[in-house]
Amino acid sequence: MADGTTPEFSTGIDMLAAQRAAFLQAGAPDLNARRDALKRLKNAIRSESKRLQSAAMADFGNRAPVETSLIDLGPTVQAIHHMRANLKRWMAPKHRPVSWLMRPGRARVHYQPLGVVGIMSAWNYPVALTLVPLATALAAGNRAMIKPSELAPATADVLRDMLDGIFPQEEVAVLTGGADVAAAFSALPFDHLLFTGSTAVGRHVMRAAADTLTPVTLELGGKSPVILAPDADLDLLARDLAFAKTVNAGQTCIAPDYLLALRDQVEPLSEALIAKIRESFPGGLADPNLTTIISERHLARLRDLLEDARAKGARIVEAFPAGSNSAHPRALSPALVLDATPEMRIMQEEIFGPFLPVIARESVADSIDFVNARPRPLALYIYGKDRAAVDNVLQRTTSGNVTVNGCMLHYAVESLPFGGVGDSGIGAYHGVEGFRRLSHAKGSFHPGKRHVSRLLHSPYGRLARFATK
Ligand code: NAD
Repeated sequence: MADGTTPEFSTGIDMLAAQRAAFLQAGAPDLNARRDALKRLKNAIRSESKRLQSAAMADFGNRAPVETSLIDLGPTVQAIHHMRANLKRWMAPKHRPVSWLMRPGRARVHYQPLGVVGIMSAWNYPVALTLVPLATALAAGNRAMIKPSELAPATADVLRDMLDGIFPQEEVAVLTGGADVAAAFSALPFDHLLFTGSTAVGRHVMRAAADTLTPVTLELGGKSPVILAPDADLDLLARDLAFAKTVNAGQTCIAPDYLLALRDQVEPLSEALIAKIRESFPGGLADPNLTTIISERHLARLRDLLEDARAKGARIVEAFPAGSNSAHPRALSPALVLDATPEMRIMQEEIFGPFLPVIARESVADSIDFVNARPRPLALYIYGKDRAAVDNVLQRTTSGNVTVNGCMLHYAVESLPFGGVGDSGIGAYHGVEGFRRLSHAKGSFHPGKRHVSRLLHSPYGRLARFATK
C-alpha cells in the first residue's frame, strides 16, 4: 500500500481472529516447539545483522553499526539464550503446599499460554524492544502481533521481512503504520498487550485496552535520577555517564536523566565528565560513533529544552560547542546543564537526549526527598562506597530498577525483572517474570479419595468447629 501499511490486515481484527483460531486448534506448543521458535528467531537476528545495522543507520541518520550490534542486537540474542536455557524449568508445573484441612490432595500451578499477545514497540532500540517482547511471548507459548514504531520505518521493514520468513502469519504478524494504526491496534481484543513508549501515550493505550478488558504491560519512561553519596567515586561516575548519556545519543529510556550531587562535587565531576566525552569522540560532532537524534521534531524539542534552561539561568557546558560542516544535521552536542532548577522544563519533562542537568543538594537525605516528591522513575542510580548509605537510598526510594555504582547495567542482567512502577510503567518482563507475565498461572487441585470435603454434608454437626481452627 502507498502509505506503507500492511495491505491485507490494515485493521488487524481479521489477523487476530486468524491467530486465535490457529491457537485454539493447535493448543499450547510444547517445550521443543518453543525452543525451536526461539532458535529460529536468534538465527535470523544473526543472519540479518548487516541489514538491521544498515536499517538503524537509515532510521537514526547516524548510528554506528557496532553500536547497533552492542546495544540492540547483542542484548536481544542474550535474552533469547537465557529463555532457551531456562524454559524447561519455567514451564514445569510448580507444586504448592496444602494445609492440613485440605489433605489429602495435590496442588499445582500450571503456566499456560494466554493466546495472542499484541506488542507495540518504540523506535529507540527498535530491534530489542520488538524482539525481546516477541521472544517472551513465544517462550510462554503465545502467538504475537507486532506494531513497530513508525519513527524507525527501515528497521520495521527488515523486521517484517525477517519474521515473515521464519514464522507463518498465524503465529507472528507485523502491522506497520502511524499513530492511527497504533490507536486501532491498541483497541484490539488481545489476550495481553505489551506497550513500550511514553507515559502520555501509555494512558491512551490503557484506556483503549479497558474497553475489551485486555490486560496490559506498559513499559514507559520518566526521569531517572542519579544520587551521589559524599564518598562517590567521581572518576568512575564520569566514565559511566560519558557512556550512558551518549550511547544512542541519550535516547534511552533508562538513561540517567538528572544528577543530584553534593555542592562540592559539581565542579570536579563536570570537568571530568566533559573531558571524558571529548576523549570518547575525538571527531566531535562529526565523530562516526556519535549517534544522531531520530527526527527534526525531537531535535527541535531538545534545543528548546536547552534554551529554556539557559533563559532561566542555567549554565550550559557543551562538549562540542562549535558546529562542524561535516557533521550530520541532526548531530547534537552532549551538554551539562549546571544550576538546574525544578522550574526549568528540562527538569519537568523526560529529556531523552544527550543533556544532563545537575542539581546541587545539601545531603543525601535531601536528594531522597527530591526524588520522592516526583513521579516514580523507571531507573535510579546510586554512587557511593558506604553500604549502609547505599542501602538507605535503596530502601527509601521506589523505582522500576536500580544499578548501584554503575549506569543502565541492570537491563543486561537477563535474570532480573525489567519494568517501571507508578508513572514509569505497569508490569515487568525479562527472565522468569516475563515468562509469567505472558502466561496464565492456572491453579489445579486434585483431592485424594478420602479428602475431608467428602465429609461435608448437611446436617453439619460438629464439623463447623473446624472451619475457623
Ligand atoms: P511515544 O509514546 O511517543 O510513541 C509510541 C507509539 O505510540 C508511537 O509509535 C505511535 O504510533 C503510538 N501512538 C501514538 N498515539 C497513539 C494512541 N492514541 N494510541 C495508541 N498508540 C499511539 O513514545 P516513543 O517516542 O516511541 O518512545 C519514547 C518513550 O518511550 C520515552 O518516554 C521512553 O522513556 C519510553 N521507552 C520506554 C522503554 C521501557 O522499556 N520502559 C523503552 C524505550 C522507550
